[in-house]
Amino acid sequence: MTLLKKSKFVHELRNDNRLAWFNSFNLKVAYIRPELTSFLEQLTWLDSNHEQQLSEMERQAIHSLTSDGFLVPINANEDELVEEMLRESMDKTPDIHILKLFLTTRCNFNCKYCLIIKNLKGIQGERLDVETLEKALDFFAWHSAKSSRKRKTIFLYGGEPLTNPEVMMWAIRRARELEAEGTLGGELELILETNGSLITPEVAEFLARNRVILIVSLDGPERIHNCMRTYSDGSGTFCDAIRGYRLAREKGCVAVVSTVFGPHVAPNVSEVVTFLAREVQTPSIGLDLLHIIETPEERVEIPIELVVERYIEAFKVARKEGLYVEHIMRRIRPFVEESRRLKDCPACGSRIVVAPDGAVGLCEGFIGSRQYFIGNVTDTQDLRKNSWFLEWNNRTPFRSKTCRECIALSICGGGCVYNAYVQYTDIHGVDDTICATSRGFINWLIEDLYRLLSERTQGFPLMSVHVASVQEKRNLYGRIPPNLDLPLLQTVSKYAERPAGGCHE
Ligand code: SF4
Ligand code: SF4
Repeated sequence: MTLLKKSKFVHELRNDNRLAWFNSFNLKVAYIRPELTSFLEQLTWLDSNHEQQLSEMERQAIHSLTSDGFLVPINANEDELVEEMLRESMDKTPDIHILKLFLTTRCNFNCKYCLIIKNLKGIQGERLDVETLEKALDFFAWHSAKSSRKRKTIFLYGGEPLTNPEVMMWAIRRARELEAEGTLGGELELILETNGSLITPEVAEFLARNRVILIVSLDGPERIHNCMRTYSDGSGTFCDAIRGYRLAREKGCVAVVSTVFGPHVAPNVSEVVTFLAREVQTPSIGLDLLHIIETPEERVEIPIELVVERYIEAFKVARKEGLYVEHIMRRIRPFVEESRRLKDCPACGSRIVVAPDGAVGLCEGFIGSRQYFIGNVTDTQDLRKNSWFLEWNNRTPFRSKTCRECIALSICGGGCVYNAYVQYTDIHGVDDTICATSRGFINWLIEDLYRLLSERTQGFPLMSVHVASVQEKRNLYGRIPPNLDLPLLQTVSKYAERPAGGCHE
Protein backbone atom coordinates (compact mmCIF):
# COMPACT_ATOMS: atom_id res chain seq x y z
CA MET A 1 0.00 0.00 0.00
CA THR A 2 1.33 3.48 -0.88
CA LEU A 3 1.54 6.29 1.62
CA LEU A 4 -1.74 8.14 1.83
CA LYS A 5 -3.04 11.52 2.88
CA LYS A 6 -6.48 13.01 3.20
CA SER A 7 -7.48 14.77 -0.02
CA LYS A 8 -7.26 18.56 0.21
CA PHE A 9 -10.90 18.64 -0.93
CA VAL A 10 -12.21 16.68 2.05
CA HIS A 11 -14.33 18.66 4.51
CA GLU A 12 -15.18 17.11 7.81
CA LEU A 13 -18.54 17.43 9.56
CA ARG A 14 -19.06 15.77 12.92
CA ASN A 15 -21.98 14.98 15.11
CA ASP A 16 -22.38 12.57 18.03
CA ASN A 17 -23.36 9.59 15.89
CA ARG A 18 -21.00 9.82 13.00
CA LEU A 19 -18.25 11.60 11.19
CA ALA A 20 -18.96 12.78 7.64
CA TRP A 21 -16.34 13.44 5.00
CA PHE A 22 -17.41 15.39 1.97
CA ASN A 23 -15.14 15.69 -1.06
CA SER A 24 -15.87 19.07 -2.63
CA PHE A 25 -14.22 18.08 -5.93
CA ASN A 26 -15.87 14.74 -6.70
CA LEU A 27 -18.99 15.45 -4.59
CA LYS A 28 -18.92 12.16 -2.75
CA VAL A 29 -19.94 11.92 0.87
CA ALA A 30 -18.75 9.25 3.29
CA TYR A 31 -20.32 8.55 6.67
CA ILE A 32 -17.82 7.07 9.06
CA ARG A 33 -18.18 5.29 12.40
CA PRO A 34 -17.13 7.62 15.23
CA GLU A 35 -14.71 4.96 16.56
CA LEU A 36 -12.56 5.52 13.47
CA THR A 37 -12.09 9.23 14.14
CA SER A 38 -8.78 9.05 15.97
CA PHE A 39 -7.41 6.42 13.58
CA LEU A 40 -8.15 8.67 10.62
CA GLU A 41 -6.70 11.71 12.36
CA GLN A 42 -3.31 9.98 12.58
CA LEU A 43 -3.43 8.76 9.05
CA THR A 44 -0.46 10.37 7.38
CA TRP A 45 1.80 7.37 7.51
CA LEU A 46 0.09 4.29 6.17
CA ASP A 47 2.44 1.84 4.51
CA SER A 48 2.58 -1.92 4.03
CA ASN A 49 4.06 -2.61 7.48
CA HIS A 50 1.31 -0.75 9.21
CA GLU A 51 -1.31 -2.33 7.02
CA GLN A 52 -0.72 -5.67 8.71
CA GLN A 53 -1.50 -4.17 12.08
CA LEU A 54 -4.87 -2.80 11.00
CA SER A 55 -8.15 -4.15 12.29
CA GLU A 56 -10.71 -5.38 9.78
CA MET A 57 -12.77 -2.22 10.30
CA GLU A 58 -9.75 0.01 9.67
CA ARG A 59 -8.76 -1.97 6.60
CA GLN A 60 -12.25 -1.64 5.14
CA ALA A 61 -12.25 2.08 5.89
CA ILE A 62 -8.96 2.62 4.10
CA HIS A 63 -10.12 0.63 1.10
CA SER A 64 -13.39 2.48 0.78
CA LEU A 65 -11.96 5.96 1.37
CA THR A 66 -9.18 5.36 -1.12
CA SER A 67 -11.34 4.05 -3.91
CA ASP A 68 -13.70 7.04 -3.64
CA GLY A 69 -10.98 9.68 -3.60
CA PHE A 70 -11.11 10.73 0.07
CA LEU A 71 -7.61 9.40 0.60
CA VAL A 72 -5.02 10.03 -2.08
CA PRO A 73 -1.35 9.14 -2.55
CA ILE A 74 0.85 11.33 -0.40
CA ASN A 75 2.51 12.88 -3.46
CA ALA A 76 -0.77 13.55 -5.36
CA ASN A 77 -0.86 17.02 -6.91
CA GLU A 78 -4.55 17.82 -6.60
CA ASP A 79 -4.23 21.32 -8.00
CA GLU A 80 -2.95 19.76 -11.20
CA LEU A 81 -6.06 17.57 -11.19
CA VAL A 82 -8.21 20.71 -11.14
CA GLU A 83 -6.19 22.29 -13.94
CA GLU A 84 -6.61 19.15 -16.02
CA MET A 85 -10.36 19.18 -15.43
CA LEU A 86 -10.51 22.86 -16.48
CA ARG A 87 -8.53 22.17 -19.65
CA GLU A 88 -10.93 19.38 -20.56
CA SER A 89 -14.25 20.92 -19.49
CA MET A 90 -14.16 24.68 -20.00
CA ASP A 91 -14.88 26.25 -23.39
CA LYS A 92 -11.64 27.89 -24.55
CA THR A 93 -13.50 30.69 -26.29
CA PRO A 94 -17.00 32.11 -25.67
CA ASP A 95 -19.68 29.95 -27.30
CA ILE A 96 -22.49 32.44 -27.81
CA HIS A 97 -25.89 30.79 -28.23
CA ILE A 98 -28.17 32.87 -25.98
CA LEU A 99 -29.50 36.36 -26.62
CA LYS A 100 -31.17 38.54 -24.02
CA LEU A 101 -32.97 41.18 -26.01
CA PHE A 102 -34.34 44.28 -24.30
CA LEU A 103 -37.53 45.19 -26.15
CA THR A 104 -37.75 48.17 -23.84
CA THR A 105 -36.48 49.48 -20.53
CA ARG A 106 -39.95 50.85 -19.71
CA CYS A 107 -42.42 49.08 -17.47
CA ASN A 108 -46.06 49.55 -16.46
CA PHE A 109 -45.20 48.30 -12.93
CA ASN A 110 -43.06 49.91 -10.27
CA CYS A 111 -41.71 46.91 -8.30
CA LYS A 112 -39.69 47.93 -5.27
CA TYR A 113 -36.70 45.65 -5.96
CA CYS A 114 -36.43 45.96 -9.76
CA LEU A 115 -32.78 45.65 -10.81
CA ILE A 116 -33.36 47.11 -14.25
CA ILE A 117 -35.50 50.17 -13.51
CA LYS A 118 -33.55 51.08 -10.34
CA ASN A 119 -30.21 50.74 -12.14
CA LEU A 120 -31.38 53.12 -14.88
CA LYS A 121 -31.08 55.73 -12.10
CA GLY A 122 -33.75 57.96 -13.59
CA ILE A 123 -32.57 57.67 -17.21
CA GLN A 124 -35.63 57.76 -19.48
CA GLY A 125 -36.65 54.26 -20.56
CA GLU A 126 -36.18 53.40 -24.24
CA ARG A 127 -37.95 51.15 -26.73
CA LEU A 128 -36.36 48.94 -29.34
CA ASP A 129 -37.34 49.80 -32.94
CA VAL A 130 -37.70 47.39 -35.86
CA GLU A 131 -34.54 48.50 -37.62
CA THR A 132 -32.36 47.91 -34.54
CA LEU A 133 -34.21 44.65 -33.89
CA GLU A 134 -33.32 43.31 -37.35
CA LYS A 135 -29.68 44.19 -36.80
CA ALA A 136 -29.71 42.65 -33.33
CA LEU A 137 -31.08 39.35 -34.64
CA ASP A 138 -28.57 39.26 -37.49
CA PHE A 139 -25.74 40.07 -35.09
CA PHE A 140 -26.84 37.24 -32.78
CA ALA A 141 -27.39 34.81 -35.66
CA TRP A 142 -23.83 35.39 -36.91
CA HIS A 143 -22.46 34.34 -33.51
CA SER A 144 -25.00 31.62 -32.80
CA ALA A 145 -24.30 29.90 -36.13
CA LYS A 146 -20.71 29.46 -34.95
CA SER A 147 -21.71 27.94 -31.62
CA SER A 148 -21.39 24.20 -31.11
CA ARG A 149 -24.67 24.06 -29.13
CA LYS A 150 -27.63 22.64 -31.04
CA ARG A 151 -30.18 24.67 -29.12
CA LYS A 152 -30.20 28.47 -29.33
CA THR A 153 -32.22 30.65 -26.98
CA ILE A 154 -33.65 34.15 -27.25
CA PHE A 155 -35.06 35.85 -24.16
CA LEU A 156 -37.44 38.74 -24.88
CA TYR A 157 -36.84 40.98 -21.94
CA GLY A 158 -37.39 44.41 -20.43
CA GLY A 159 -38.78 46.45 -18.59
CA GLU A 160 -42.04 44.90 -19.59
CA PRO A 161 -41.65 43.58 -23.18
CA LEU A 162 -45.41 43.73 -23.75
CA THR A 163 -45.33 47.53 -23.52
CA ASN A 164 -43.72 47.23 -26.99
CA PRO A 165 -46.10 44.62 -28.49
CA GLU A 166 -45.61 45.27 -32.23
CA VAL A 167 -41.85 44.95 -31.99
CA MET A 168 -42.26 41.86 -29.80
CA MET A 169 -44.39 40.18 -32.48
CA TRP A 170 -41.98 41.25 -35.19
CA ALA A 171 -39.08 39.80 -33.16
CA ILE A 172 -40.84 36.47 -32.71
CA ARG A 173 -41.78 36.12 -36.39
CA ARG A 174 -38.32 37.09 -37.59
CA ALA A 175 -36.58 34.81 -35.08
CA ARG A 176 -38.69 31.85 -36.23
CA GLU A 177 -37.85 32.72 -39.87
CA LEU A 178 -34.14 32.73 -39.08
CA GLU A 179 -34.55 29.36 -37.39
CA ALA A 180 -36.41 27.93 -40.40
CA GLU A 181 -33.75 29.24 -42.82
CA GLY A 182 -31.07 27.54 -40.71
CA THR A 183 -29.34 30.88 -40.09
CA LEU A 184 -29.16 30.38 -36.32
CA GLY A 185 -27.38 27.06 -36.68
CA GLY A 186 -29.88 25.07 -34.65
CA GLU A 187 -33.33 24.88 -33.12
CA LEU A 188 -34.62 27.94 -31.31
CA GLU A 189 -36.09 28.24 -27.82
CA LEU A 190 -38.01 31.54 -27.47
CA ILE A 191 -38.69 32.88 -23.99
CA LEU A 192 -40.78 35.87 -22.97
CA GLU A 193 -40.14 37.28 -19.50
CA THR A 194 -43.24 39.21 -18.54
CA ASN A 195 -45.20 40.56 -15.60
CA GLY A 196 -48.30 39.02 -17.19
CA SER A 197 -50.56 42.06 -16.88
CA LEU A 198 -50.73 42.95 -20.59
CA ILE A 199 -51.47 39.49 -21.94
CA THR A 200 -54.65 39.56 -24.03
CA PRO A 201 -56.37 36.56 -25.69
CA GLU A 202 -54.85 37.61 -29.07
CA VAL A 203 -51.35 37.95 -27.61
CA ALA A 204 -51.65 34.60 -25.82
CA GLU A 205 -52.80 32.87 -29.02
CA PHE A 206 -49.93 34.41 -30.96
CA LEU A 207 -47.41 33.29 -28.33
CA ALA A 208 -48.84 29.76 -28.26
CA ARG A 209 -48.76 29.52 -32.07
CA ASN A 210 -45.12 30.56 -32.12
CA ARG A 211 -44.11 28.20 -29.31
CA VAL A 212 -43.00 31.00 -27.02
CA ILE A 213 -42.39 29.90 -23.41
CA LEU A 214 -43.52 32.43 -20.83
CA ILE A 215 -41.82 33.22 -17.55
CA VAL A 216 -44.39 35.18 -15.55
CA SER A 217 -43.38 37.06 -12.41
CA LEU A 218 -45.55 36.09 -9.44
CA ASP A 219 -44.43 36.45 -5.84
CA GLY A 220 -47.03 34.15 -4.25
CA PRO A 221 -50.53 34.86 -2.99
CA GLU A 222 -52.05 38.33 -3.40
CA ARG A 223 -51.14 39.62 0.08
CA ILE A 224 -47.46 38.76 -0.38
CA HIS A 225 -47.12 39.55 -4.10
CA ASN A 226 -48.60 43.02 -3.66
CA CYS A 227 -46.07 44.01 -0.97
CA MET A 228 -43.43 44.59 -3.63
CA ARG A 229 -45.05 44.28 -7.06
CA THR A 230 -47.14 47.40 -7.44
CA TYR A 231 -48.21 49.98 -10.00
CA SER A 232 -46.78 53.51 -9.73
CA ASP A 233 -49.78 54.59 -7.64
CA GLY A 234 -48.93 51.86 -5.11
CA SER A 235 -51.87 49.62 -5.97
CA GLY A 236 -51.28 45.86 -6.20
CA THR A 237 -50.67 44.02 -9.48
CA PHE A 238 -51.55 40.47 -8.41
CA CYS A 239 -54.97 40.20 -10.09
CA ASP A 240 -53.63 41.40 -13.44
CA ALA A 241 -50.56 39.17 -13.26
CA ILE A 242 -52.42 35.97 -12.40
CA ARG A 243 -55.11 36.69 -14.97
CA GLY A 244 -52.41 36.97 -17.66
CA TYR A 245 -50.69 33.79 -16.50
CA ARG A 246 -53.94 31.80 -16.53
CA LEU A 247 -54.98 33.18 -19.90
CA ALA A 248 -51.65 32.16 -21.41
CA ARG A 249 -52.07 28.62 -20.05
CA GLU A 250 -55.66 28.41 -21.31
CA LYS A 251 -54.53 29.36 -24.80
CA GLY A 252 -51.94 26.60 -24.79
CA CYS A 253 -48.73 28.42 -23.84
CA VAL A 254 -46.09 26.77 -21.72
CA ALA A 255 -45.81 29.18 -18.80
CA VAL A 256 -43.70 28.96 -15.65
CA VAL A 257 -43.33 31.34 -12.72
CA SER A 258 -40.48 33.51 -11.53
CA THR A 259 -40.56 34.60 -7.88
CA VAL A 260 -38.19 37.04 -6.25
CA PHE A 261 -36.96 35.86 -2.86
CA GLY A 262 -37.33 39.30 -1.26
CA PRO A 263 -38.16 40.34 2.31
CA HIS A 264 -41.86 39.74 1.56
CA VAL A 265 -41.29 36.14 0.36
CA ALA A 266 -38.51 34.90 2.69
CA PRO A 267 -40.51 34.87 5.96
CA ASN A 268 -43.53 33.37 4.15
CA VAL A 269 -41.71 31.00 1.85
CA SER A 270 -43.67 27.85 2.81
CA GLU A 271 -46.93 29.60 2.02
CA VAL A 272 -45.55 30.98 -1.26
CA VAL A 273 -44.20 27.64 -2.52
CA THR A 274 -47.37 25.77 -1.50
CA PHE A 275 -49.55 28.37 -3.21
CA LEU A 276 -47.55 28.23 -6.44
CA ALA A 277 -47.58 24.43 -6.46
CA ARG A 278 -51.23 23.89 -5.54
CA GLU A 279 -53.16 26.97 -6.68
CA VAL A 280 -51.12 28.18 -9.62
CA GLN A 281 -50.05 24.64 -10.60
CA THR A 282 -46.94 25.83 -12.36
CA PRO A 283 -44.57 23.06 -13.50
CA SER A 284 -41.60 24.93 -12.05
CA ILE A 285 -40.60 28.16 -10.40
CA GLY A 286 -37.49 30.30 -10.33
CA LEU A 287 -36.74 31.56 -6.83
CA ASP A 288 -34.45 34.44 -7.60
CA LEU A 289 -32.20 35.77 -4.87
CA LEU A 290 -32.11 39.57 -4.81
CA HIS A 291 -29.62 41.29 -7.04
CA ILE A 292 -27.80 44.20 -5.44
CA ILE A 293 -29.01 47.52 -6.81
CA GLU A 294 -26.05 49.77 -7.59
CA THR A 295 -27.30 52.77 -5.59
CA PRO A 296 -27.11 51.85 -1.87
CA GLU A 297 -30.23 53.93 -0.93
CA GLU A 298 -32.34 51.95 -3.40
CA ARG A 299 -31.32 48.52 -2.11
CA VAL A 300 -33.76 46.01 -0.69
CA GLU A 301 -31.97 43.64 1.69
CA ILE A 302 -32.56 40.61 3.90
CA PRO A 303 -30.24 39.30 6.66
CA ILE A 304 -28.11 36.59 5.12
CA GLU A 305 -28.86 34.04 7.90
CA LEU A 306 -32.56 34.40 7.12
CA VAL A 307 -31.90 33.87 3.41
CA VAL A 308 -30.01 30.63 4.09
CA GLU A 309 -32.57 29.28 6.56
CA ARG A 310 -35.59 30.15 4.44
CA TYR A 311 -34.04 29.02 1.18
CA ILE A 312 -33.53 25.56 2.70
CA GLU A 313 -37.11 25.73 3.99
CA ALA A 314 -38.30 26.48 0.44
CA PHE A 315 -36.62 23.30 -0.82
CA LYS A 316 -38.14 21.19 1.97
CA VAL A 317 -41.63 22.35 0.99
CA ALA A 318 -40.95 22.09 -2.75
CA ARG A 319 -39.82 18.46 -2.55
CA LYS A 320 -42.97 17.57 -0.59
CA GLU A 321 -45.06 19.26 -3.26
CA GLY A 322 -43.02 17.83 -6.15
CA LEU A 323 -42.24 21.33 -7.43
CA TYR A 324 -39.01 22.02 -9.31
CA VAL A 325 -37.38 25.21 -7.99
CA GLU A 326 -34.89 26.36 -10.56
CA HIS A 327 -32.39 28.37 -8.50
CA ILE A 328 -32.33 25.76 -5.74
CA MET A 329 -32.04 22.70 -7.98
CA ARG A 330 -28.89 24.28 -9.42
CA ARG A 331 -27.32 23.58 -6.02
CA ILE A 332 -29.03 20.29 -5.16
CA ARG A 333 -28.57 18.46 -8.47
CA PRO A 334 -24.75 18.81 -8.61
CA PHE A 335 -24.54 17.32 -5.10
CA VAL A 336 -26.93 14.48 -5.89
CA GLU A 337 -25.83 13.63 -9.43
CA GLU A 338 -22.16 14.36 -8.72
CA SER A 339 -21.78 16.83 -11.54
CA ARG A 340 -19.75 20.00 -11.08
CA ARG A 341 -21.30 23.39 -11.77
CA LEU A 342 -18.40 25.21 -13.39
CA LYS A 343 -20.21 28.52 -13.85
CA ASP A 344 -23.52 29.83 -12.61
CA CYS A 345 -24.65 32.26 -15.26
CA PRO A 346 -24.69 32.05 -19.07
CA ALA A 347 -23.37 35.64 -19.11
CA CYS A 348 -20.00 33.91 -18.60
CA GLY A 349 -19.31 33.27 -22.27
CA SER A 350 -22.58 31.95 -23.68
CA ARG A 351 -24.83 34.95 -23.94
CA ILE A 352 -25.09 38.50 -25.18
CA VAL A 353 -27.38 41.28 -24.03
CA VAL A 354 -28.71 43.85 -26.50
CA ALA A 355 -30.12 47.13 -25.17
CA PRO A 356 -32.96 48.99 -26.96
CA ASP A 357 -30.44 51.31 -28.66
CA GLY A 358 -28.51 48.29 -30.02
CA ALA A 359 -25.65 48.45 -27.49
CA VAL A 360 -24.19 44.99 -26.89
CA GLY A 361 -23.21 43.90 -23.41
CA LEU A 362 -22.49 40.98 -21.16
CA CYS A 363 -25.01 41.44 -18.37
CA GLU A 364 -28.37 43.15 -18.01
CA GLY A 365 -27.51 44.36 -14.49
CA PHE A 366 -25.28 47.00 -16.10
CA ILE A 367 -28.02 48.34 -18.39
CA GLY A 368 -27.87 51.79 -16.77
CA SER A 369 -24.14 52.23 -16.21
CA ARG A 370 -23.28 50.43 -19.49
CA GLN A 371 -20.32 48.82 -17.76
CA TYR A 372 -19.22 45.79 -19.81
CA PHE A 373 -21.11 47.01 -22.88
CA ILE A 374 -19.01 46.66 -26.01
CA GLY A 375 -20.03 48.45 -29.19
CA ASN A 376 -23.30 48.07 -31.04
CA VAL A 377 -25.19 45.59 -33.23
CA THR A 378 -24.33 47.82 -36.19
CA ASP A 379 -20.63 46.90 -35.74
CA THR A 380 -19.12 43.84 -37.30
CA GLN A 381 -17.15 42.41 -34.44
CA ASP A 382 -16.47 38.87 -33.38
CA LEU A 383 -17.28 38.88 -29.67
CA ARG A 384 -15.55 35.56 -29.18
CA LYS A 385 -12.26 37.47 -29.45
CA ASN A 386 -13.25 40.34 -27.21
CA SER A 387 -11.07 40.53 -24.08
CA TRP A 388 -14.03 41.13 -21.72
CA PHE A 389 -15.94 38.16 -23.15
CA LEU A 390 -12.83 36.03 -22.79
CA GLU A 391 -12.35 37.15 -19.19
CA TRP A 392 -15.99 36.40 -18.24
CA ASN A 393 -15.77 33.11 -20.11
CA ASN A 394 -12.85 32.06 -17.93
CA ARG A 395 -14.54 32.95 -14.65
CA THR A 396 -15.07 29.89 -12.49
CA PRO A 397 -14.52 29.26 -8.77
CA PHE A 398 -12.18 26.41 -9.72
CA ARG A 399 -9.54 29.00 -10.70
CA SER A 400 -9.61 30.70 -7.30
CA LYS A 401 -7.24 29.55 -4.55
CA THR A 402 -9.77 30.51 -1.87
CA CYS A 403 -12.66 28.75 -3.59
CA ARG A 404 -10.63 25.56 -3.96
CA GLU A 405 -10.72 25.38 -0.17
CA CYS A 406 -14.47 25.93 0.06
CA ILE A 407 -16.95 23.15 0.75
CA ALA A 408 -19.32 24.50 -1.94
CA LEU A 409 -16.65 24.59 -4.69
CA SER A 410 -18.55 22.32 -7.10
CA ILE A 411 -22.09 23.56 -6.57
CA CYS A 412 -21.99 27.37 -6.52
CA GLY A 413 -20.70 28.07 -10.04
CA GLY A 414 -19.21 31.27 -8.62
CA GLY A 415 -22.62 32.94 -8.32
CA CYS A 416 -23.62 36.15 -10.03
CA VAL A 417 -20.81 38.15 -11.64
CA TYR A 418 -22.74 41.41 -11.41
CA ASN A 419 -23.33 41.00 -7.64
CA ALA A 420 -19.64 40.22 -7.16
CA TYR A 421 -18.71 43.36 -9.10
CA VAL A 422 -21.11 45.61 -7.18
CA GLN A 423 -19.79 44.28 -3.86
CA TYR A 424 -16.07 44.10 -4.61
CA THR A 425 -15.55 46.09 -7.88
CA ASP A 426 -14.06 42.89 -9.24
CA ILE A 427 -15.78 40.33 -11.41
CA HIS A 428 -13.58 37.68 -9.82
CA GLY A 429 -14.91 38.53 -6.37
CA VAL A 430 -17.53 36.34 -4.72
CA ASP A 431 -21.28 36.77 -4.57
CA ASP A 432 -21.81 36.74 -0.80
CA THR A 433 -25.43 35.57 -0.89
CA ILE A 434 -24.84 32.68 -3.27
CA CYS A 435 -21.75 31.71 -1.27
CA ALA A 436 -23.76 31.60 1.95
CA THR A 437 -26.69 29.69 0.46
CA SER A 438 -24.42 27.22 -1.35
CA ARG A 439 -22.46 26.46 1.82
CA GLY A 440 -25.71 26.28 3.80
CA PHE A 441 -27.13 23.76 1.34
CA ILE A 442 -24.07 21.49 1.39
CA ASN A 443 -24.04 21.30 5.17
CA TRP A 444 -27.77 20.67 5.30
CA LEU A 445 -27.71 18.09 2.48
CA ILE A 446 -25.02 16.04 4.23
CA GLU A 447 -27.06 16.07 7.44
CA ASP A 448 -30.36 15.39 5.71
CA LEU A 449 -28.98 12.55 3.61
CA TYR A 450 -27.75 10.85 6.77
CA ARG A 451 -31.19 11.27 8.32
CA LEU A 452 -32.85 9.75 5.24
CA LEU A 453 -30.43 6.82 5.13
CA SER A 454 -30.90 6.22 8.87
CA GLU A 455 -34.68 6.22 8.53
CA ARG A 456 -34.59 3.66 5.75
CA THR A 457 -32.25 1.30 7.51
CA GLN A 458 -33.46 1.80 11.09
CA GLY A 459 -30.42 3.39 12.58
CA PHE A 460 -28.13 3.00 9.57
CA PRO A 461 -25.69 0.50 11.11
CA LEU A 462 -22.35 1.60 9.74
CA MET A 463 -19.86 -1.24 9.35
CA SER A 464 -16.99 1.20 9.06
CA VAL A 465 -17.54 3.65 6.21
CA HIS A 466 -20.54 4.16 3.97
CA VAL A 467 -20.07 6.19 0.80
CA ALA A 468 -23.53 7.31 -0.36
CA SER A 469 -24.42 6.26 -3.90
CA VAL A 470 -26.09 8.58 -6.41
CA GLN A 471 -29.19 6.38 -6.15
CA GLU A 472 -29.31 6.93 -2.39
CA LYS A 473 -28.75 10.65 -2.80
CA ARG A 474 -31.74 10.87 -5.16
CA ASN A 475 -33.98 10.36 -2.11
CA LEU A 476 -33.20 14.00 -1.36
CA TYR A 477 -35.43 15.04 -4.30
CA GLY A 478 -38.53 13.85 -2.47
CA ARG A 479 -41.47 14.06 -4.90
CA ILE A 480 -39.60 16.13 -7.48
CA PRO A 481 -39.48 13.80 -10.51
CA PRO A 482 -35.89 12.94 -11.46
CA ASN A 483 -36.35 13.02 -15.24
CA LEU A 484 -38.07 16.32 -15.78
CA ASP A 485 -38.35 17.82 -19.23
CA LEU A 486 -38.77 21.43 -18.27
CA PRO A 487 -38.32 24.59 -20.29
CA LEU A 488 -34.89 26.10 -19.77
CA LEU A 489 -33.56 23.00 -18.07
CA GLN A 490 -30.68 22.59 -20.49
CA THR A 491 -30.04 26.26 -21.22
CA VAL A 492 -30.01 27.76 -17.76
CA SER A 493 -30.65 25.24 -15.02
CA LYS A 494 -28.01 22.72 -16.10
CA TYR A 495 -25.74 25.43 -17.46
CA ALA A 496 -22.05 24.45 -17.27
CA GLU A 497 -22.68 21.26 -15.29
CA ARG A 498 -20.21 18.48 -16.03
CA PRO A 499 -20.11 14.96 -14.54
CA ALA A 500 -17.46 14.71 -11.84
CA GLY A 501 -17.07 10.94 -12.10
CA GLY A 502 -13.76 9.25 -12.40
CA CYS A 503 -11.49 12.07 -11.36
CA HIS A 504 -9.73 10.20 -8.61
CA GLU A 505 -9.93 6.74 -10.12
S1 SF4 B 1 -24.11 38.06 -13.94
FE1 SF4 B 1 -25.78 38.19 -12.45
S2 SF4 B 1 -27.03 39.96 -13.05
FE2 SF4 B 1 -25.69 39.41 -14.76
S3 SF4 B 1 -26.92 38.08 -15.99
FE3 SF4 B 1 -25.74 36.76 -14.63
S4 SF4 B 1 -27.06 36.40 -12.83
FE4 SF4 B 1 -27.91 38.16 -13.99
S1 SF4 C 1 -17.74 31.47 -4.75
FE1 SF4 C 1 -18.20 31.31 -2.55
S2 SF4 C 1 -19.37 29.41 -2.31
FE2 SF4 C 1 -18.39 29.37 -4.31
S3 SF4 C 1 -16.49 28.23 -3.95
FE3 SF4 C 1 -16.01 30.42 -3.81
S4 SF4 C 1 -16.19 30.89 -1.63
FE4 SF4 C 1 -17.24 28.93 -1.97
